[in-house]
Amino acid sequence: MTPDQIIDMFLDHYRRRGHRDAPESSLIPPPGDPVLFTTSGMHPLTPYLAGRPHPAGRRLVDVQRCLRTTDLDEVGDATHLTVFDMLGSWSLGDYGIATSVRWGHELLTEGFGVDPVRLHATVFGGDDQVGPDETAWATWTDLGVPVEATGAENWWSNGPTGPCGPDSEIFVWTGEGPPTGTPTGDDRWVEVWNHVQMRYHRHDDGRLTALPMSNIDTGMGLERLEMVLRGARSVFEGDGLRPWVDAVRDRWPLEGPDLRIVVDHLRSAVVVLGDGVRPGNTGRGYVLRRLVRRALTVLWRDDPERGLTELPLDPYADTLRRFRQPAGAQPLRAVLADEERRFRGLLRRGRPLVDRLRARGPLTEPDYRWLHDTHGLPRDLVDGLLAGAG
Ligand code: ATP
Ligand code: MG
Ligand code: MG
Ligand code: MG
Repeated sequence: MTPDQIIDMFLDHYRRRGHRDAPESSLIPPPGDPVLFTTSGMHPLTPYLAGRPHPAGRRLVDVQRCLRTTDLDEVGDATHLTVFDMLGSWSLGDYGIATSVRWGHELLTEGFGVDPVRLHATVFGGDDQVGPDETAWATWTDLGVPVEATGAENWWSNGPTGPCGPDSEIFVWTGEGPPTGTPTGDDRWVEVWNHVQMRYHRHDDGRLTALPMSNIDTGMGLERLEMVLRGARSVFEGDGLRPWVDAVRDRWPLEGPDLRIVVDHLRSAVVVLGDGVRPGNTGRGYVLRRLVRRALTVLWRDDPERGLTELPLDPYADTLRRFRQPAGAQPLRAVLADEERRFRGLLRRGRPLVDRLRARGPLTEPDYRWLHDTHGLPRDLVDGLLAGAG
């Protein structure tokens, strides 16, 4: 199935069960939100999970692009991207976890045709504040899906405070032959979907209180689902990533994690640019800058002459279309080319300065401050220069 077909089937499944479309947000949360980027489908719905009535009702469905800077270091494996699309369904104080799990199982097996024996679920096993999730356990067992109970891994939160609750994750077997073992510690089990019971609020002092109503919030990674439906070995084989993989590999002989990092970071940079962010030294602009610089650092390790304008516009245009963004490919590529020139210049000026300081011994805090304040060299760039020359 193509990503568009997957999205249609997902939306249709929930619309037929009384869900209305929640509008998709950009990656930029509304003013006043403490978080830099939208990190999950539930993020834009936070006020409604806390009790405010949603204009579209109590059952919602949507597709929401997300950016997780916390996953930056995971990129390079088979399943983690920095930007991805999340298919989401919600019950705002309406139906509970048993219904959510049943509808999810039905969609995966009857809708998407996943062989039920390839499924494994995990549920919250309880801690000193909240008891084990017996309802989810019983529902999975009744459906014939093996379940494993865990601790903190099955507690969902979007940060140290705010709405949170026990969750139940669904994994699909991607190994050769029949499934073996459990998802814990075996990455042949790929997590595709999480069903969260959003029914608590975590306060500043760590206390948990019940939300005014018990909600369900589910999120399924589009690229992950496409991967398991294709029988692919990684998300990089899917339609959304392939134009980048092809374009990058066409020009430069990259493989493995290097290829994945360059592909992921450039694609994510385009989506972030498409939502209006421009490179800068703080906040969102700095996240964008880091994405571009990490990609360039990998590219230049073997050949410092490589440049982003060598890539065609097709992957840019394809990504903007997939993420439903109206921005033009050409101007975005010009921004990246500009950012590349700037990074080249910084490295050219920075390298001799860092070398000179290093010759005297390990860099001190005042060294870092001087490099930053006088020469505009951020700490992670200096550390990169130290590591690269080391
Ligand atoms: P993982 O354990 O694999 O890091 P997660 O438990 O952090 O995933 P959730 O917060 O439960 O992920 O998000 C819901 C769904 O979004 C996941 O089940 C997965 O399908 C998808 N997803 C999460 N993180 C990523 C990512 N970095 N890249 C692609 N898809 C992701
Ligand atoms: Mg994760
Ligand atoms: Mg997980
Ligand atoms: Mg999860």
